[in-house]
Amino acid sequence: MKFLEAKRIRNLPPYLFARIERLIAEKRKAGVDVISLGIGDPDRPTPDHVIETLIKEVKNPANHQYPSSVGMLSYRRAVAYWYRQRFGVELDPETEVVSLLGSKEGIAHISWCYLDPGDTFLVPDPGYPVYSGGGILAGAAPYYVPVYEQNGYLPDFDAIPPDVAGRTKIMFLNYPNNPTGAVAGVEFYRKAVDFAREYKILICHDAAYSDIAYDGYQPPSFLQFPGAKEFGIEFHSVSKTYNMTGWRVGWAAGKPEVVEALGRLKSNIDSGVFQAVQYAAAAGLTGPQDVVDKQSKIYQERRDILVDGMNRLGWNLQKPKATFYVWAPVPKGYTSESFAELVLDKAGVVITPGTGYGRNGAGYFRMALTISKERIQEAVKRISDSIGKVEI
Ligand SMILES: *Cc1c(COP(=O)(O)O)cnc(C)c1O
Repeated sequence: MKFLEAKRIRNLPPYLFARIERLIAEKRKAGVDVISLGIGDPDRPTPDHVIETLIKEVKNPANHQYPSSVGMLSYRRAVAYWYRQRFGVELDPETEVVSLLGSKEGIAHISWCYLDPGDTFLVPDPGYPVYSGGGILAGAAPYYVPVYEQNGYLPDFDAIPPDVAGRTKIMFLNYPNNPTGAVAGVEFYRKAVDFAREYKILICHDAAYSDIAYDGYQPPSFLQFPGAKEFGIEFHSVSKTYNMTGWRVGWAAGKPEVVEALGRLKSNIDSGVFQAVQYAAAAGLTGPQDVVDKQSKIYQERRDILVDGMNRLGWNLQKPKATFYVWAPVPKGYTSESFAELVLDKAGVVITPGTGYGRNGAGYFRMALTISKERIQEAVKRISDSIGKVEI
């Protein structure tokens, strides 16, 4: 049959939010004022100086042509500058940084650079679905590494069977973590480097939320740990830090051979990021950073309202130190899906079932802090009024 889908897309995991999305559409159609804690997409605007830079650069005809697919040197320098200021990490902008059309693009494509059909790669479960998706598209087999609440949602490297580790080529890690809000400390990153060294594994660290953090906590970069650059690459972007998810610009930084391979692959697929957008992202990275602190304060206030509110209803949630997510167990007698459906049905509030992030997300749900505190207050009140106290 001519139009039979290729196996690589037939093997992509099914879209688990489909049912919830259909229910949301039905509710809205019925006139319900749905409050969504579902989508993790900043609601606040991009900072003015970033927008002004775009406006200026978009008027320059020199920026209207194809950009280089690895990024302008001035953009890669801005990334290197930011790494030095923020983490004390030295990067060679020419060999250790490549631009991306958002970090999601690079996360999906890195698997094409290192995984052949039949290869094994390690993916945390629960985790951001793009890690497994990219590798599956490359024909490789994900090995899901469970992460548990009692271990602070950090993978236990010793629990990964040596034969699996031995045949693994890449491992994805992500702290501060989506969906759990977990953070990782020095000890953990040291262990990750040791593990990578022992089994010759490339660590792909996703640092998308390094600058959404609370109570004075400053998340580290994977690249600041000794040996990390030898075994790893870090994916990052301006999306969450400067409220630029729609702009589609990010980078990968770290091991030069990996940066080169990713750039080579990309030069065969895309033609880089619009130069005016690269200038604007660079303005964010090199400009005043007080916007980032102000942003985190806003999320922190929302976090406190949500967590305190849920805890009054019977939960016993810790306040996450970073990310704009709150991860919570479902009450007794419910599954992730049945509780999400109940909350939508009774309270008109959207939460994301934990199973959307992997089998191990079962029994949990995620709430995003990307709506106003008034709406969060309203969401908590509606859950309180319609469902009341719960038993966890
Ligand atoms: C939002 C997010 C990203 C960032 O995606 P961009 O493509 O850079 O917008 C990366 N990783 C995780 C885990 C995310 O939640």
